[in-house]
Amino acid sequence: MLIGFVSDPHANLPALEAVLKDVRTVSPDMVVCLGDLVGYGPFPNETVAAVTAEATQILAGNHDLAVTGEIDPETFNSYAKAAIDWTASALTPDNTALLRGFEPTAIFRDHMLAHGSPRRPADEYIVSVNEAHENFKDSHFETAFVGHTHQPAAFLLRDDDVVSLRPVPGEELAVGSSRAILNPGSVGQPRDGDPRASWGVWDEESRNFTVRKVEYPIEQTQAAILQAGLPELLAWRLGEGR
Ligand code: ZN
Repeated sequence: MLIGFVSDPHANLPALEAVLKDVRTVSPDMVVCLGDLVGYGPFPNETVAAVTAEATQILAGNHDLAVTGEIDPETFNSYAKAAIDWTASALTPDNTALLRGFEPTAIFRDHMLAHGSPRRPADEYIVSVNEAHENFKDSHFETAFVGHTHQPAAFLLRDDDVVSLRPVPGEELAVGSSRAILNPGSVGQPRDGDPRASWGVWDEESRNFTVRKVEYPIEQTQAAILQAGLPELLAWRLGEGR
């Protein structure tokens, strides 16, 4: 069984469309979305439609929860908050209701899914071995898939040590029998210095994880961000991948 993981599309439709085209070439058995469908980007309704059409399981991210009023937007920085306000007014009532139906965590085929982290799914960032280690300790899972940091990552528990491996795009990373926390990176706002859209493939049989990077017309999203009156910084950062 091959499972495709897309995370943090953030209303960047050109990026999502490029990823979904690549998903079709890989042809996983199912697709999971780890949250943050909206926020930052200029195409929230189109993104909700495309994700719900493709994904079997969809989580809510912190931006989705802020747009639906389940998290206080005052906890966000000013750029993110401006985008939350814009998104809340741009979304159709139906799409807002769809987002409200998603949770920030789920169990899926024995895998733990969480937007941020297994123990604090709506807000914790797993960026270092420290957060990874605490999550291995505090939560019960063999394999967890997370998003939220917008950076591809693989944390493996070997004996009592956490090993952080940097996934190389297009190369299989062997997880083996280790407990693992895996992050496919972000479709719509990568922050690892590589502006290409990112997603991941998990092979349940071999326990190999592969991050894939896809080019997309960044300037289309940038133009739409400016056109919508969203903060300029949100357009600029897409070109930098940060
Ligand atoms: Zn995000």
